[in-house]
Amino acid sequence: MAKKFDPHQAMADARHEFGEHGGVNMSIAASTTYTVMSPELMPEIFAGQLGPTEGGCYLYGRHFNPTVYVLGRMVAAMEGAEAGYGCASGMSAISSAIMQRCTAGSKVVSSNTLYGGTWALFAEYLPSKCGIDTTFVDIQDLAAVEKAMNEGVEVLYTETLSNPTLRVADIAALSEIAHRNNACLVVDNTFTPMIFSPILQGADVVIHSATKFLSGASDVIAGVICSSTSFIEELMDLHHGSLMLLGPTMDPIVAFRLSLRLPHLGVRMKEHSSRAMIFAERLHKLGLDVVYPGLESHPDHSLFAACSNDEYGFGGLFTLDMETPERASKLMDLLQNEVRFGFIAVSLGYFDTLLTCPGASTSSEMGEDALHLAGISPSLVRFSIGLTGSVEERWDQLAQAIKMCD
Ligand code: PLP
Repeated sequence: MAKKFDPHQAMADARHEFGEHGGVNMSIAASTTYTVMSPELMPEIFAGQLGPTEGGCYLYGRHFNPTVYVLGRMVAAMEGAEAGYGCASGMSAISSAIMQRCTAGSKVVSSNTLYGGTWALFAEYLPSKCGIDTTFVDIQDLAAVEKAMNEGVEVLYTETLSNPTLRVADIAALSEIAHRNNACLVVDNTFTPMIFSPILQGADVVIHSATKFLSGASDVIAGVICSSTSFIEELMDLHHGSLMLLGPTMDPIVAFRLSLRLPHLGVRMKEHSSRAMIFAERLHKLGLDVVYPGLESHPDHSLFAACSNDEYGFGGLFTLDMETPERASKLMDLLQNEVRFGFIAVSLGYFDTLLTCPGASTSSEMGEDALHLAGISPSLVRFSIGLTGSVEERWDQLAQAIKMCD
């Protein structure tokens, strides 16, 4: 039987970077410019004939940086991708990947349930600034996806697990549709690092907001793009590269800090998943309207189980619909200010629990109609379950706050 892919192991196997003086951590290459051994090499570097893997040549900090390059390799190994590179934010990873593949007049077909910033990029920014139009579809409806793949569609875009509705995209089926229509499949895997490996199921590009689980500490804004070596090189092309020319560069110090978090990402993801599963099961037993892909009642439970890597669980996020926006606010208020279960804050993947009402925050860019279409109700509370405290102590806090909402 073929050995199953384990992203945690793959990243460990790919590690071969040590610091100066034998340091167990890599060194930070803080220079913005690099000496070349002789003047005749400079044109070859500018022509892309020499680079990090061709002669170990670096040029300038907005082009490849050695520390960011290692971080990119670590995330690429985790994703089973040929190559990867870091950038300034998840949004810059998304916009750079899209703009690299598209030109004015190109079209994108995208899931209609996305992080609000990505939705605004597709619905508002790209059409008005770049002439790139997006058709939004229900990504679960493969016939609707197929129908939208008209001529000129360069990119099919989805989140592996939709924010915040937690529906699972069938990456293998979407990749087949994209490729049959000469488009590429770009997947945002921010919610499910280690859990899903979209590249191995046919995605062409995977992006991460490294601000979330990859960091785990809500202390850096960062992004990573994983793809083929040629696509990563294209992004850095001196004439046409979105990373090189739009310039959303990752600071090497940020890359270094992230490189210290990735070795325990697998351990963290298992714990986020295990705790979310316990709480979601207990909330479900109480008869509450909880959505978590680990529950058999979730419409994509089987798809998730069939497509995910073993042992990383069903993710660290669930939602709870509190029936009215007032009860949703009351619950969050109690959870933060009364029982101290977590914090009312946007973002996710932090070591403590974060709570938001997406309709009024991270998805509010979508506007009422699009929110309704995506199934994001104003009374929905999104939980990003943290790792601190004991499970039973946390459950007591959660159960107490729920009781106080009655
Ligand atoms: N993708 C998803 C799923 C997100 O939730 C976010 C931010 O919340 C982003 C992308 C954007 O990432 P960043 O804030 O790092 O730019």
